[in-house]
Amino acid sequence: MHALKWRGIEMAENKDFIIQIKGLQIGKHEYDFPIDGSFFREFENSQILDADLDAEVVLEKGSGWMNVEADITGYVTVECDRCLDDVELPMDFSCSMAVKFAKDLSDDDGDEFIIMDPADGELDLTQFLYDYVCLNLPLQKVHQDGKCNSEMMAKLAGVNSAAEKDDDEVAQNSPFGALKGLFDNKN
Ligand SMILES: [Zn+2]
Repeated sequence: MHALKWRGIEMAENKDFIIQIKGLQIGKHEYDFPIDGSFFREFENSQILDADLDAEVVLEKGSGWMNVEADITGYVTVECDRCLDDVELPMDFSCSMAVKFAKDLSDDDGDEFIIMDPADGELDLTQFLYDYVCLNLPLQKVHQDGKCNSEMMAKLAGVNSAAEKDDDEVAQNSPFGALKGLFDNKN
């Protein structure tokens, strides 16, 4: 079968996240997709090490178009930005995409619609789900305060304070450090 074209990248098929749309009646259809760590490990450079997510998908089929809405809840495991240990982050968000059926894929205006060839009998949600989970990761991926790996934190703190000390010594020994002192005195 045809693979869905997503932003010009031909994707490998992941059978688990495919909705058969051929013969699907006009109207709303509900699907439930569990997503685990193996889903994310298929992607190169994925920040997500493990996952226990549930995607409730509602697909509304019209004539010549489809709308897909997903509610995603559960947990993902990533590396903590602070202590580098694994940290579980809760996820709870919704996302959607609009699909337009068109013979000519160059109709694709980029952001509003995904263009699908009407001859394609299936919709692969793999990239859609992956992209939105990644987009919904928090900027700060850290344990709650006090929950970081203290051993690792101590090691990292040791490295940081050594680096800071080096910086101070460099400043004192450099001519610019001396000049800075001069100006400080003037003011
Ligand atoms: Zn941590």
